[in-house]
Amino acid sequence: MDISKLAASIAESPTVKLNAEAAKLRAQGEAIVHFGIGEPKNKAPLGAISSAIEKLNSSDVKYAPSDGMPGLKKAIVQYTERNYGRTVDPANVIVSDGAKHSIFNVLYALINPGDQVIVLAPYWVSYPEMVKMVNGVPVIVTPVDGSFYPKLSEIEKAVTASTRAIIVNSPNNPSGAVFSDEFVSQIVEFCERKNIYLLTDDIYHKLIFDGKKIAPVYNFTKKDIESTNVIVINGISKTYGMTGFRVGWVVANRKLVKVMTNIQGQITTCNSPICQVAAESALNDDQSGVDTLLDTIEKNRNTVMRELQSIPGMKVVKPQGTFYCFPDFSAFNKDSMALADFLLKKALVVTVPGKEFGMEGHLRLSYAGAPSEVADGLARIKWALDPNAPREIQIGNRKVVRDW
Ligand code: PMP
Repeated sequence: MDISKLAASIAESPTVKLNAEAAKLRAQGEAIVHFGIGEPKNKAPLGAISSAIEKLNSSDVKYAPSDGMPGLKKAIVQYTERNYGRTVDPANVIVSDGAKHSIFNVLYALINPGDQVIVLAPYWVSYPEMVKMVNGVPVIVTPVDGSFYPKLSEIEKAVTASTRAIIVNSPNNPSGAVFSDEFVSQIVEFCERKNIYLLTDDIYHKLIFDGKKIAPVYNFTKKDIESTNVIVINGISKTYGMTGFRVGWVVANRKLVKVMTNIQGQITTCNSPICQVAAESALNDDQSGVDTLLDTIEKNRNTVMRELQSIPGMKVVKPQGTFYCFPDFSAFNKDSMALADFLLKKALVVTVPGKEFGMEGHLRLSYAGAPSEVADGLARIKWALDPNAPREIQIGNRKVVRDW
């Protein structure tokens, strides 16, 4: 079968693929520990579930407006006011099928063939592929000091007359790094001076540890919502454990929102009203579930740090947010694909190769699971990689002996 050159150039999402593989192994009864999945285990808020059930029970589940239902848009306007200190109009908000879809739509609306989009490594796997899907060119900027913190000077060097946008994701997937307010203020100022769009992927913005807070990105621009180059993308997937509801949104100037509405109107028509009423409740109701999630993942972060630091040769930077950790495993194997495969086969632990995030030698561990599972998975990694660890380990109902 002949498929288009563009489609053929798009890689399979490694995380989606890993999820499918892990589910298959689990279904076969294997005691898999899943550090691959970017999905918190917390249950969706009860209010969200009740709203979805109520909508279903009404038997009135029909097309919704392409840009989102007024109730959800109002909730997003209020969320933006509460969390970003910015008053925006519903006309500045568009609801899509997950933040992934939101980012794609922004790129589709902004990028001409050959336009460049700067992506900061380590990056979320989907950014470069999405840029390619809209005939743009991803330009990867990797911190030369080997850290997870980009410098404006490095970004400046990568900017050309064709640079149309920069994507910033902090707290960051995969590193867990939280960029400093100083860096964010510099990049906002730079983008506005150069008329480059700043796509702020804020999907993890509430998942910051150690009681720290970051200033909302709008604090660094004096421009109003219609003239700022800052575009904010967010969603309910991570904060409310509602990955399956597929609701994300963009806050941007009206013109862009209108163009994106036209695009959505031709492709998806609208996000499901069942999911939208659930999202509205999640945003409006009691937010204590977010604190509970943060508490669990912060404790998991501490377990991950303690265990990884006890393995000689492991280099690990303490995540400041998200539920990801991106240790440097190159002392064990420089080929992250081979190492991830080894850990899956020998220890039944799913990790994601750093190569997928633009940094070879690393593995991404997602510690959003139950604390006992996180501890079990780390014990297995230690057993597999640390010659000083006990040779025998219990994996599921089997005793396994290290023979390498
Ligand atoms: N941005 C980042 C950085 C992510 O990690 C994810 C999910 N893995 C998304 C966006 C998309 O989230 P969703 O489509 O579920 O809203």
